[in-house]
Amino acid sequence: AIDPVRVLVTGAAGQIGYALVPMIARGVMLGPNQPVILHMLDIPPAAEALNGVKMELIDAAFPLLKGVVATTDVSEACTGVNIAVMVGGFPRKEGMERKDVMSKNVSIYKSQASALEKHAAANCKVLVVANPANTNALILKEFAPSIPEKNITCLTRLDHNRALGQISERLNVQVSDVRNVIIWGNHSSTQYPDVSHATVKTQDGEKPVRELVADDDWLRGDFITTVQQRGAAIIKARKLSSALSAASSACDHIRDWVLGTPEGTWVSMGVYSDGSYNVPAGLIYSFPVTSLNGEWSIVQGLTIDEFSRKKLDATAEELTEEKALAYSCLS
Ligand code: NDP
Repeated sequence: AIDPVRVLVTGAAGQIGYALVPMIARGVMLGPNQPVILHMLDIPPAAEALNGVKMELIDAAFPLLKGVVATTDVSEACTGVNIAVMVGGFPRKEGMERKDVMSKNVSIYKSQASALEKHAAANCKVLVVANPANTNALILKEFAPSIPEKNITCLTRLDHNRALGQISERLNVQVSDVRNVIIWGNHSSTQYPDVSHATVKTQDGEKPVRELVADDDWLRGDFITTVQQRGAAIIKARKLSSALSAASSACDHIRDWVLGTPEGTWVSMGVYSDGSYNVPAGLIYSFPVTSLNGEWSIVQGLTIDEFSRKKLDATAEELTEEKALAYSCLS
């Protein structure tokens, strides 16, 4: 029998958590043969709701689900986990300053990092979803020094998938035939959805998206803003933020990281910058990556035109500012 993998979901009683845990229990994240034990953490006011989610998981009788830990104790939640999906965070409320929200999240991510540092399995892989995702991940890295920095990532796969979706709608092609879009930078409105290297599989072979769309104004204008503002559009329509697509993309992120990206295909992940593409080292920044044997690497050697360069720099600048703000909350 295959040993179960322990997967932590924080903020598990929330919207994204509710969509995410059944996906994990069904094998969407780690494949149809991998048993899992779910560790669900939430804060005391959500304890009763969390227990309700646990009851539903039992009632769903998922064959791959070998156990459920539902707790408000951070140490218990982190014990022995192989994968940690950090969805819990302090939401921005009306009237709150950016600095106040940052300060709340810095203290949450600092304490959760310490718990992972002490109690998680060696080589635990971490995905931060809660906003500000890149900077929360950076704080987590700072306070969990024994977790390799390559194991700490943040979610930009939803933005990546949204970009694939927009191209597929525009060209009326299957989304699975579109590949190699890139999300650069911050999971915020300064992110840069880039199709310069994206292609579509057609009956006449692989074609560049730019050639097929043949409308650079759209690609440099409405396409980018639609992807950047998709979250707000969903809130407007649903009166709730995107949860199913966020959960689904979190599964995509971990699956491709652990099981590998398909040949010739890259995906976007927020990872610790090594200075590639002249992005300042030491930021958590979204890059195109491939993954093999559970290790991602940044795709190298892509040409960056002047338009893209400006966008890469602008989102890096925002992340540098966020980093400074986060560190000012620590002192
Ligand atoms: P959601 O489950 O909708 O969202 C959780 C987090 O994911 C938020 O920070 C949200 O950011 C972020 N997020 C990132 N990408 C997306 C996306 N594409 N769409 C929507 N959200 C995205 O929030 P809920 O309020 O339903 O649940 C949060 C849970 O966290 C609750 O159960 C709560 O009890 C728990 N919590 C835990 C805390 C802790 O650990 N100390 C503190 C506060 C809450 P954004 O806010 O920008 O939408």
